Amino acid sequence: ELHAGEMERRRLHNTIQELKGNIRVFCRVRPLVDGGFSKHIQLPASDDKSIVLAKTEESHTGKTGDTHKNYNFSFDRVFGPKASQQEIFDEISLLVQSALDGYNVCVFAYGQTGSGKTYTMEGEEYDDTRGVIPRAVQQVFKAGQKLATQGWEFTFTASFVEIYNETLRDLLYTGKASKRPEHEIRKMSNNEVTVTNLTYEKVYTEDQVQGLIALAKQNRSTAQTSQNDRSSRSHSVFQLHIEGVNAGRDVTCKSTLCLVDLAGSERMVKSQSQGDRFKEMTAINSSLSNLGIVITSLANKESHIPYRNSKLTYLLQGCLGGNSKTLMFVNISPELDSFGETLNSLRFASKVNDCVIGTASSNKK
Ligand code: ADP
Ligand code: MG
Repeated sequence: ELHAGEMERRRLHNTIQELKGNIRVFCRVRPLVDGGFSKHIQLPASDDKSIVLAKTEESHTGKTGDTHKNYNFSFDRVFGPKASQQEIFDEISLLVQSALDGYNVCVFAYGQTGSGKTYTMEGEEYDDTRGVIPRAVQQVFKAGQKLATQGWEFTFTASFVEIYNETLRDLLYTGKASKRPEHEIRKMSNNEVTVTNLTYEKVYTEDQVQGLIALAKQNRSTAQTSQNDRSSRSHSVFQLHIEGVNAGRDVTCKSTLCLVDLAGSERMVKSQSQGDRFKEMTAINSSLSNLGIVITSLANKESHIPYRNSKLTYLLQGCLGGNSKTLMFVNISPELDSFGETLNSLRFASKVNDCVIGTASSNKK
């Protein structure tokens, strides 16, 4: 049976989550490439929840209305450039744990291209640089083994999808490129969502999951050669579907852990906004803003949730809302020339934090 201290830790975690309507927002500032520090990003030493974006001499454009103003934001946590992958994961391991307790869990990385979304979610291959996906999988497997001693038997199934221009692509596909199937999202009678022709791979070991992550990376880079910079313009959605059976106690549980590396949030540059590029940017902008609207409408218990307005929210429909828990990372680039994008990202994230995007009107519960 579980240790009393651990039970208390989990109870506290669930209480905090419920108080916040099950949405949390973390901010992570990437280090500067050459080390050093950015004067315009200030992380007050007094707490680990605030970030100040300060107008400095350099960022002052001289335009009217562009005063030397500071923008203050606060989130559930703010991680500075020195935060390690382990520190980040320590803060979300309870969230990951709750996926085995039957909660659906979604973790998103939001931010402009180059801000550290993929580093946060996938990380790099060495032990201490591994990101959220491999660490989460490792934890889920370990916890599953522990629960096995109490009669639980778990089945883990992984899927990995890319959404590019509102089209789904199977990142675990191993067949011939010419035979790549098309996919459709289908909602089943039990409210769960399934994707036609998608690879759902039963997984038993961490190594196997690492292999799937590598396969996904490879699948993404093949697509990349034909469309330069494609990965920054697509969402990638890793899902671990968890099913537990305890025959002795005659109970089952079912949940999904969704780990999402979102498309770059940068705004369109006028000179690039033509033809396919325009269509692409419009698709990204509308699916990111729809994600914000869905999350905040859920928190506000709106009667209509516009899941179907984008492939991303439609795919995640079964995992957002209900008893699910959502965490959004807003990743920040520390360079001064990213000032405008950083401000946009922080504004988006604080709207999610306060649950006031779009149609959401009632107060946060
Ligand atoms: P994005 O996925 O948002 O486009 P990346 O995750 O690819 O951004 O990060 C851009 C670059 O910065 C990569 O070379 C990555 O290794 C590096 N990087 C990002 N975050 C960190 C970090 N916290 N520590 C060290 N390097 C990082
Ligand atoms: Mg990336």
